[in-house]
Amino acid sequence: MTQIPKIDILSLNLKELEGELLKLDEPKYRAKQVYSWLVKGAWGEEMRNIPLALRKKLEEVFEFRLPKVKLKLVSKLDGTIKYLFELIDGECIEAVFMKYEHGNTLCISSQVGCRMGCKFCASTLAGRVRDLTPSEMLGQIITAQKDTGERISNVVMMGIGEPLDNYDNVIKFLRLVSSEDGLNIGLRHISVSSCGLVDKINDLANEGLPITLSISLHAYDNQVRSAIMPINNKYPIEALLKACQGYFEKTGRRISFEYTLIADKNDTQEGAIQLASLLKKYIKSTPHVNLIPLNEVKETRLSTSKNVNLFKNKLISLGINATVRRKLGSDINASCGQLRRQTKEENDS
Ligand code: SAH
Repeated sequence: MTQIPKIDILSLNLKELEGELLKLDEPKYRAKQVYSWLVKGAWGEEMRNIPLALRKKLEEVFEFRLPKVKLKLVSKLDGTIKYLFELIDGECIEAVFMKYEHGNTLCISSQVGCRMGCKFCASTLAGRVRDLTPSEMLGQIITAQKDTGERISNVVMMGIGEPLDNYDNVIKFLRLVSSEDGLNIGLRHISVSSCGLVDKINDLANEGLPITLSISLHAYDNQVRSAIMPINNKYPIEALLKACQGYFEKTGRRISFEYTLIADKNDTQEGAIQLASLLKKYIKSTPHVNLIPLNEVKETRLSTSKNVNLFKNKLISLGINATVRRKLGSDINASCGQLRRQTKEENDS
C-alpha cells in the first residue's frame, strides 16, 4: 500500500490551512487557532485548546517540520548565537542570531548547500543538496525565538544558499513571514541577498514585496568578477546593474551592494575608482556599498585585504556611500557555511 505523503503544515498560509481543515470536517476558526500554535513552535499536545480528536487527525494528515538545534555556539564577545539546525531528513543548515540596538536579527539559510560556486564561499564548496521549503525557512526563526525566548524583528537571507535560486519557496516564505496571522515580521525588516540572477531580480521587482535587496557584487569589472563568481559568465556586470536600476525604478527600494575585500584580487585603489564610476554609470539613486572583510576559508586559499579602510575612504571621496560591516561573533566562526562544513567533515572522517 502506498502511503500518502503528509502535508507540510507550516508551508501553508492560513487560507490553505482553512481549506485543508474543511476537508477534515473541521470549522474554519480552528485554522487560526492551530496556526497561532505553529508559529510559536508548538505541535501535538502542546496545542492546549485543540481537542484531542483534532490533534490526532492533524498528526495523521500533516507533518510539522521544525528544525532542531543540533549545535549552538554563543559568542562571549557580543552574545551572537550561531545555530546548526538539523532538518527532517538529517541535513544541516546554519542560522545566526545577532543583537543590534534596533532589535534582534536572524540570518537564515535558503538552501542546503549552494550551486553558485563563488570561489571564496564555504557554503558552495560541496554544491547544492536541496532547496529549503517555506516552512524550513520559517522554522529557523521559530526555533531561534523559542530557544532564546526573544522576538526576532529583522531577518536577513544571507545564510547558506542562493535565495533567488529557490525563488518560489522564498517568495512564499516572504509572504508567510510577514502575514499578520503569522510571525508578522514587516517586509521592510527583511533583506534578501543575491549573487545576481538577473531574470529573477526582474521577477522580484514585480512581486510587490518591499524587502531590501542586497547584491553580492565583489568586483569592479567582468574579468575580476568572473574569476571569483561563475554566475558572472551568465549575467555580466552591466546586465546585473541594469537590472538593479530597473528594480529601483519599479519598487522605489534602494539596493545595497556587498563587496568582500580579497587581498590582491579586488582591493586596490584603482579598483575603488573603477567601482565608483561603474556604480555611478548604472545606478541613479545613491548606491550604498557594504564592505565585508573576507572570512578566510581553509580550502579557498584567499586572504583578507588589509586595505579595507583605504578602499572605503576612496569610495567615499568619490561620492559613494560606503560602510564596513561590523563583525559579530568572530570567536564562534559566525560566517555561514563554515560550521556545516566542519561538522560534515568530522562526521565523514
Ligand atoms: N547567495 C547569496 C546569499 C548568501 S552569502 C549571495 O550571494 O548574496 C551572504 C554574503 O556573504 C554574500 O555577500 C557573500 O558573497 C558573502 N560571503 C560568502 N563567503 C564569504 C567569506 N568567506 N567572507 C566574506 N563574505 C563572504
